[in-house]
Amino acid sequence: MSKREFQTEVSQLLQLIIHSLYSHPEIFLRELISNSSDALDKLRHLTLTDDAFKGLAFDPRIDLELDEANKTLTIADTGIGMNEEDLVAHLGTIARSGTKNFLSQLSGDAKRDSNLIGQFGVGFYSAFMVADRVEVVSRKAGEELAWRWTSDGKTGFDIEPAERLVAGTTVTLHFNEEGEQYANSWRLQEVVKKYSNHIAFPIFLTYDKSEWNDAEKKSEKTHTTEQVNAASALWRRPKNELTETDYKELYKSISGDWEDPLFWFHTKAEGSLDYTTLFYIPAKAPLDLYQAEYKTGVKLYVKRVFIMDDAKELLPSYLRFVRGIIDSEDLPLNVSREILQQNRVLTSIRTASVKKILSELKNIAANQPEQYLKFIAEYNRPLKEGLYSDFANRETLLDLIRFKSTKVEGLTSLADVKSRMKEGQKSLYYITGGAESLLRTSPLLEIYKKKDLEVLILDDDIDEIVFSGVEKYGDIDLKAVNKASTSEDLQDEAEPDKAETLKPLLDKLKATLGDRVKEVRASVRLADSPSCIVSDEAEPSMKMQQMLRAMGQ
Ligand code: ADP
Ligand code: MG
Repeated sequence: MSKREFQTEVSQLLQLIIHSLYSHPEIFLRELISNSSDALDKLRHLTLTDDAFKGLAFDPRIDLELDEANKTLTIADTGIGMNEEDLVAHLGTIARSGTKNFLSQLSGDAKRDSNLIGQFGVGFYSAFMVADRVEVVSRKAGEELAWRWTSDGKTGFDIEPAERLVAGTTVTLHFNEEGEQYANSWRLQEVVKKYSNHIAFPIFLTYDKSEWNDAEKKSEKTHTTEQVNAASALWRRPKNELTETDYKELYKSISGDWEDPLFWFHTKAEGSLDYTTLFYIPAKAPLDLYQAEYKTGVKLYVKRVFIMDDAKELLPSYLRFVRGIIDSEDLPLNVSREILQQNRVLTSIRTASVKKILSELKNIAANQPEQYLKFIAEYNRPLKEGLYSDFANRETLLDLIRFKSTKVEGLTSLADVKSRMKEGQKSLYYITGGAESLLRTSPLLEIYKKKDLEVLILDDDIDEIVFSGVEKYGDIDLKAVNKASTSEDLQDEAEPDKAETLKPLLDKLKATLGDRVKEVRASVRLADSPSCIVSDEAEPSMKMQQMLRAMGQ
C-alpha cells in the first residue's frame, strides 16, 4: 500500500468543507452522482466515437446501496473509471484554477460559502462533510487492473491494487455523525429527487425495505432495488407536459444553483435544422462573470447524448451568464472543440439562439417590467459588451439596455428617452468618463439643463469604449457631450460675434497653455461655468487616450 499526501490546496479545502460548510451537507450526494453521470457520459461518448471502445457492452447505470446497520452508502457507476494515475491526479490535487479561485473568495460566512461550493462544484471532496472515511474502488475502461483509494480526509490517502469486475467506480462512504441522517432510504430518495431527478441515467437504490406481512402480522425487511430518478431528457418533452417545478429542478441539477432561475426559454426547432434549446437566466450573476477564466453554463448534447460543457463556442461571450442545454440532431457525435468553431450547423444554432434569447428578453421587458429590472440589476453590463461585439443584434441590445439619465430617477430605456425628445430635437446625448455623481454635476451638462435636453449618464467603466462605437439609435444620432462638435440642437442661440470680441482672451489663453491644448475656443455649451475641457470629435476621448497610452499606443 502506498501513502500519499494531499496537495496543500486540497488540505485547505477539506478543512473548510469539514469545519465551516455545514449548512447543506446533502449536496454530497448531488456531487457524487454528477461525477458518476459525467463518467457515464464520457464512456458512452467513447463507445460511439472510438473504434477501440465500439464493441464494449455498455450498461449505463448508477447504483446506490445503503447499509443502515453499518451506516455506509456506496455509489457505484459503470462509467469510464480511473486508473492509479487518474486517482492521484483527480482525488489528490486541485487542477482547476476555478477552485483555487474559490478558495480565495471564501468569506467565512457559512451560508454564502456553501453557495460558492455549489457554483464551483468542489465536488468529490464534499463527501467528507458526511463521512469520516471514504473508499474509492475504480477500474478504467479498457484496463484490467483496479485500484483502491482510501482516505480519512485529513492528511492524505492510500492507494493499492484492487479488484473490480467491470469498468467503473464505486465510492463507499462511512458516515460520520453529521452523515448519519443519510443512512435512511427515505432521506436518500428525497435528496436524489431534489437534485438528480433528471440525470440522464437510471439511479437505483438498494436497501432493506420494511413491509407489513399481513399473514404473519408483522413487519419484514426485504432487500429491494428500486429506480429513484425519472432519468428522462426532460428538455426533449413537449412544453405542455412540463411543469414549472420540472423546469426549476432541471435548472438546479445542471447549474448547481440553489435559487430558482429568473426566466427560462424552451425552444424546439424543426426544419432545415432540428434541435432543442433550453436556456435559463440565473437569478444572480455567476461569481466568475467578470473573470477571464469564466466557465460557461451551456451543455451541448447530440441526440440526447452529452458531448461537452464549458464550450465557449455555443453562445457569444456577452451571454456567458446563460445556463442550459443545446441538443442537436444534426451534429456528429464525435464533434470536437476545434470543429465546433467553424461548424455551419452550430453557427446557425448559435445565431438563432442569440436571437431567441434577446427577443424573449424583449418580451419580458414589455410584459413583466418588474421582473425585467431584476434581470437588468445583474446583467446590464454584459449586454453592453454585446454592443461592442455583436453588431448584428445592436439595435435589439440598445432596446434591452437600461440607462441612468438626467430626467428620470432609476433607469430608463432608449425608447422612453426617444419618446421624451423635444419638438425638433435632432440627437440623443450622453456623458461618460467618471462616477455618477461627478457626471451629474459636470459643467458640460449646463447648456443641456438650460435647454431642457435629456442626457444619459453612462458611468460604467466600459461605457466610453462601447458607446463611442454606437453612432445611432434607429435613425437618431447618439452623441457624447464631451466631444467638441456642438450639435444642431445647441446651435440656435450661438452668437458668432462673441468669438470676435473674445479673440484676444482666447489667444492669450492659448499662448499660456501652449502645447497642453490643441485649441482654445469660445463655446455655447456653458451656462454658468467659465470654461471646460473637451476632446476633438475625431480624437479618442480622454479616458480612451489614457487607456491607449497604458497599452503602449
Ligand atoms: P469535477 O467533477 O468538477 O471535475 P470533482 O471533485 O467532483 O470535480 O471530481 C474530480 C475529478 O475526479 C473528476 O473531474 C473526474 O475526473 C474524477 N472522478 C470523480 N468521480 C469519478 C467517477 N465516479 N468516475 C470517474 N472519474 C471520477
Ligand atoms: Mg464533480
